[in-house]
Amino acid sequence: MIGTVASASRGVAPLLEVAALTKHYPVHRGIFGRAQAHVHAVDEVSFDIGEGETLGLVGESGCGKSTLGKTVLRLVPPTAGTITWRGKRIDNLDAGTMRSFRRELQAVFQDPYASLNPRMRAEDIVAEPIRNFEDGTVAEIRDRVRTLFEKVGLREEQMRKYPYEFSGGQRQRLGIARALAPKPKLIVCDEPVSALDVSVQAQVINLLIDLQREFGLSYLFVAHDLAVVEHISHRVAVMYLGRIVELASKEALFANPLHPYTEALLAAVPIPDPKARRKRLILAGDVPSPIKPPPGCRFHTRCPYAFDRCRVEEPVLKEPAPGHLVACHLREAPETTSQRPSTSREGSG
Ligand code: SF4
Repeated sequence: MIGTVASASRGVAPLLEVAALTKHYPVHRGIFGRAQAHVHAVDEVSFDIGEGETLGLVGESGCGKSTLGKTVLRLVPPTAGTITWRGKRIDNLDAGTMRSFRRELQAVFQDPYASLNPRMRAEDIVAEPIRNFEDGTVAEIRDRVRTLFEKVGLREEQMRKYPYEFSGGQRQRLGIARALAPKPKLIVCDEPVSALDVSVQAQVINLLIDLQREFGLSYLFVAHDLAVVEHISHRVAVMYLGRIVELASKEALFANPLHPYTEALLAAVPIPDPKARRKRLILAGDVPSPIKPPPGCRFHTRCPYAFDRCRVEEPVLKEPAPGHLVACHLREAPETTSQRPSTSREGSG
């Protein structure tokens, strides 16, 4: 696969493979409503996710990470590129054929209150996807729902309640139970804890990790909070203006970020150790418009290391270290890496 490290080479069976996936939204202006421009939400993104693996997807608000999650789920149609699920392309399937794959691809969203039908009891919210995909008696389905409530830490007596009667954390547990109901293989988690209190965040993240171990789930975990992503992910992809600029194992990315944007994101994360030092890299300027991304490297308008080539030539993902992909001209030729210091986290002292 182009631009990513195939699961097979990591000893993980590939489940989802995405190649050059692109999603552009037309911007209509004028009395005839013709598309005058396009929002480049996702541009030629490639990655894969293995069985039982969590790929974290990080970046600032508006970088395209949520759109990427929705496109992978086929909630919005891709503009170009391919999505392969267990060896079969699903990006070109019609809605009817896609339905049989929906069972295996589920989602947990940021705002469970908005994604749960307020007029349905919790029991029916979780039972609905089971009824959609399976045959079963009322008693059998009720048993399944009861078990799912137990798995996500909800009580049986809460099955008769409506979403407004749950706390934020409980509602997210309900959303997770609903996602688990059709026995999925992969769940796209789109900022699943960012609306929750910090203490509840940890509980929900640990629940997701426990469920992954128990059911062998894979996650595409979309978040802007790097501490959360570091906790739950096996590998991490960093997005900037619709493109993946760095992808590596969690350990490699957090210990030795190779892209200046990743470096800046990490520099903004507080370290819970008063003796620890981290090099500060403050980003200048605003995120450019995704309607007209800058030429060359999309990050060059904010990058402290930008040089002439960056303004005219877009870097492609290269693999300077095994399994560590980065799109930056500084990382292509060894002689140019001296233009910037090492980005490793500095030790204590
Ligand atoms: Fe910065 Fe140039 Fe690397 Fe882009 S290619 S991140 S502008 S050094």
